Amino acid sequence: MGKNIGIIDVDGHNFPNYALMKIAAYHKSKGDTVGWADIGNYDRTYLSKIFTFSPDFSGGLGKYGELIKGGTGYDIASKLPIEIENSKLMDYSLYPQHQYSVQFLSRGCIRKCPFCLVREKEGYIKPYEPVELNPKGKWIEVLDNNFFANPEWKSSIDYLIGTKQKINLHGVDVRIMNEEQAYWLNKLKLKRNIHIAWDLPELDLTEKLKEITKYIPAYKIRCYVLVGFNSSIEQDIYRLRKLKEFGIAPFVQPYRDFKNERKPSQYEKDLARWANKMWTFKSCDFSEFQPRKGFRCSHYLNGFEKAKAGGAILNYGQVSSKHQSENECSTCS
Ligand code: SF4
Repeated sequence: MGKNIGIIDVDGHNFPNYALMKIAAYHKSKGDTVGWADIGNYDRTYLSKIFTFSPDFSGGLGKYGELIKGGTGYDIASKLPIEIENSKLMDYSLYPQHQYSVQFLSRGCIRKCPFCLVREKEGYIKPYEPVELNPKGKWIEVLDNNFFANPEWKSSIDYLIGTKQKINLHGVDVRIMNEEQAYWLNKLKLKRNIHIAWDLPELDLTEKLKEITKYIPAYKIRCYVLVGFNSSIEQDIYRLRKLKEFGIAPFVQPYRDFKNERKPSQYEKDLARWANKMWTFKSCDFSEFQPRKGFRCSHYLNGFEKAKAGGAILNYGQVSSKHQSENECSTCS
């Protein structure tokens, strides 16, 4: 007789939990009964917690049997049992509200960015066999950390083209992108913009952005910009104004530490509020942005821009003539 297996997604159900879908499908294939653990009696219960900041499961009315906890939120080194890790079965019926598939075509990364746990958790990049697709899926979320660093990226592209589905590609490392990769990226049916990142302020990606926007239209690109991790305001503004010059939409992400103890500063929140809305980003410079009545963000820039301009506030970026003349942005006042 099969076992009764309970599963708990500690982070909530906002994004399908890859490990729990694998666990559920594996146990069902062995004749076990699997369901969200609530008030029943279970032989075994799996808990998955990806984020450290999610409150831990505090117990409920069920009898949970053997408890198995996994995910970065519990232990960065946690791994699935090998027989489940090697299984390609996925139980998408756990998340009927999410009508897409999730795939990793590689795990790990070639880099060791100082704010990121991927290398510690997954090691150096290696190809990964695709798992089952969601039979009701309308597109595929490709969760690779660094898609084109995979030595077998071309096989991954062939696989994705073969699915004939739209693709949302999460990790594209602009530093290694070349014309051939851009060519194949353009062959994919993309669900959303291509996500790149300019996280390290000491790297100047200007030449690389100039090169890739020759191959990929800038409107198809969204660039994540990490702020609050060893970057100065000047470095943040430099990166954002460069993106604006190229016509690339930014997404400012204030740094969150592993334990989620760090709180974003008011400056970081204001910067994100300005940059992450296309309308405000395009229509005014950060120096003109007024997130609150009586407060203009030129306040943050005065230190370095006055020094550069000999007292005047510099306007980089494509500020409209209306805004230049009024030195104020009506949309954000
Ligand atoms: S490139 Fe991305 S995934 Fe790789 S270490 Fe840096 S932040 Fe992490």
